[in-house]
Amino acid sequence: MNRESCVAADRRDPLSAFRAEFVLPEGILYFDGNSLGPRPVRSLERARSVVADEWGSGLIRSWNDADWFTLPSRLGDKVSRLIGAADGETVVTDTTTLNIFKTLAAAIRIQDVRDPSRRVLLSERDNFPTDLYIAEGLIEFIDRGYELRLVDGPDDLAGALGPDVAVVLLSHVNYRTGAMFDLAASTSVIHEAGSLVVWDLAHSAGAVPLDLTGADADFAVGCTYKYLNGGPGSPAFLWVNPRHHDDFRQPLSGWWGHARPFAMEPSFEPHVGIQRFLCGTQPVVSMSLAECGLDIALRADPLVIRHKSIELSNLFIALVEERCGSHPLTLITPRDPAARGSHVSFRHPEGYAVMQALIAHGVIGDYREPEVLRFGITPLYLGYTDVWDAVEILRDLLDTGAWDRPEFYARTAVT
Ligand SMILES: *Cc1c(COP(=O)(O)O)cnc(C)c1O
Repeated sequence: MNRESCVAADRRDPLSAFRAEFVLPEGILYFDGNSLGPRPVRSLERARSVVADEWGSGLIRSWNDADWFTLPSRLGDKVSRLIGAADGETVVTDTTTLNIFKTLAAAIRIQDVRDPSRRVLLSERDNFPTDLYIAEGLIEFIDRGYELRLVDGPDDLAGALGPDVAVVLLSHVNYRTGAMFDLAASTSVIHEAGSLVVWDLAHSAGAVPLDLTGADADFAVGCTYKYLNGGPGSPAFLWVNPRHHDDFRQPLSGWWGHARPFAMEPSFEPHVGIQRFLCGTQPVVSMSLAECGLDIALRADPLVIRHKSIELSNLFIALVEERCGSHPLTLITPRDPAARGSHVSFRHPEGYAVMQALIAHGVIGDYREPEVLRFGITPLYLGYTDVWDAVEILRDLLDTGAWDRPEFYARTAVT
């Protein structure tokens, strides 16, 4: 392995043309597309047109003329094609956090009708905190004796299921370690135990091939601003298996989820189908920008993305272990490609300072408690040579001790 072989691999890369679709600042190696994807080139023109033409000139008429009103379902259909679902099964709306609330509440209601003795929500101790916080908040709000049970990773799941478990809330790919559940196998184990599952696909959509229909999952939510490059805070998505569409109304029963929003009726009647999962007026500008990222993702073959993601991840792991081997770096991401998503994490006792030094030297990854250096692997705009160069910068910082300076220990609000 050397830099020349990486350059050669980049020349053979069938995804290399996608890099030109993104704005990547000169001198930056971007390994944080799993947290905030870079800007699609087209999004600036789209923003100009939404703000100047659709809003500026079209004014209120643009709800119809510029199809603002149908954005959640139009974009939802595009997301459906990325997650193995069909038209009319997904909406783009609200935040992932809010969508967890809505889907979890829906799943709990369905189970409560079927079997009220099930009073356990099951999740993973190492799940993304917002997922656990929402589960806790919902349990407290419902106030009917539900409890949250936490498992430690995929191997613990089967043993924790049982006749008391109503709903399982899992992140498909763990935000910290990158460990990935087998979505189809886990869904089937959960169903066999009589439970429903809500999948959080925040670190999966756009990163790994997904087949929610094939897995026959129940609910799924996820972000558009990570691997789908929708822009900071762009709206999330929410998918519901059609067999649950008409089961009941989700608790945030706002007017956008009404069967006839502009009939202005005094009482709520849920929309048939997925649209009942909408709540209120959507952030049109942000949603429009999200479409630019989705349109790029739709042109890429998910299997080719996955193949390159595995190759880049393997290369990154091998290079760090070989070239930085004398330093206290510990891989916390599964070595087996089938058991991980599309980011790679290493622990280092001074992980925070090392990451700040990397960022100051043009390698942008991020830091997660405790001691974790996290590197997003995004095949649409990262190449083999980028991986080589990033590891060389890391090696140089560690070998010279240049990372160990007071300014790299200073904490900022967002890590
Ligand atoms: C990023 C992420 C979220 C973020 O939720 P927001 O509502 O967008 O803040 C939720 N869950 C997981 C697993 C994530 O990785």
